[in-house]
Amino acid sequence: MARKTKKPLTPKKEEGTKPTKETPKPMTESEKRRFEEFVTRRQATPLAVKFVTKDGKNGRDAITQDMSYGADNAMAAFSAAAGSVDSDFCCKLLNQAVNASPSAGLETVDHSNAVAATMTGLAPQNELEGLLAAQMSACHNAAMECLRRACVKDQTFEGRKMNMTFADRFMRTFAVQVEALGKYRKGGQQKVVVEHVHVYPGGQAIVGNFNQPPGGRGTPMETTNQPHVSTQSDSKPRPCRFNLAVVKKCSARSKRTGNPCRQPAMANGKCRFHGGKSTGAPVGNKNAWKHGDYSAQAQERRREMRQLLREARQFLAEQDEI
Ligand SMILES: [Zn+2]
Repeated sequence: MARKTKKPLTPKKEEGTKPTKETPKPMTESEKRRFEEFVTRRQATPLAVKFVTKDGKNGRDAITQDMSYGADNAMAAFSAAAGSVDSDFCCKLLNQAVNASPSAGLETVDHSNAVAATMTGLAPQNELEGLLAAQMSACHNAAMECLRRACVKDQTFEGRKMNMTFADRFMRTFAVQVEALGKYRKGGQQKVVVEHVHVYPGGQAIVGNFNQPPGGRGTPMETTNQPHVSTQSDSKPRPCRFNLAVVKKCSARSKRTGNPCRQPAMANGKCRFHGGKSTGAPVGNKNAWKHGDYSAQAQERRREMRQLLREARQFLAEQDEI
């Protein structure tokens, strides 16, 4: 039996008419903003060093730097990737970084460009930062390769476990490298920016370098009349609401020692132990309302009924007497 020919899914275009180009969907406001940000960022970012393939000896392709955008520009881009003005250093470091990273299926030239772009993105300012950038690139690529291998189907449990373990090690090392680079760039000093300090009446705050006195909680702390708040080593500001050093303190005093209470105060100025004045019955109190027989309405009604019965008996008695 002869096989039926398949009908074309799209209707045949009339010959001679030009294929109409699909008009792209209009961008939303947020997409436009994103595009503008991209354009601004791209204009502010110089081009990373680029490599191209050229015909080498023995019929093998060789990789060389793309000089099409000018020798000066290319030299500056090459230097920016490795953080050095020495071309030998840059060449060696880029070679090391490329060879130490798995290409993950990329062509050698694309792989080299990707590694160079990674290092350029880290913007090494000197040779030391260049070395660190190369190691960071290699470490990140190694971690991703281990994760990729851990996802390969039909492998042994041990194989998956080993790949996950090594990926974990590489990622931890990468985090340490990021921290090291950050510390190096800040010159080993961490800057703490205190944006908001709330000092309530009775509270103290210290701004500046402040060390906890040795000896623990019982040691008296040296304080002056200036506001105090403990400095935080991390840059993430802690919400002051939970910082006991700055919240309003209870105004009660200890009966035994006479010292002021150190507990945080409630809205009424006393802590939850010292209580403070009762705020009284809640607004619109329903607790005093009594149901059924005990409601004021029911009591009044019974009073009326008793009076009515009393009057009725009195009336009957008077009738009997007559
Ligand atoms: Zn108290």
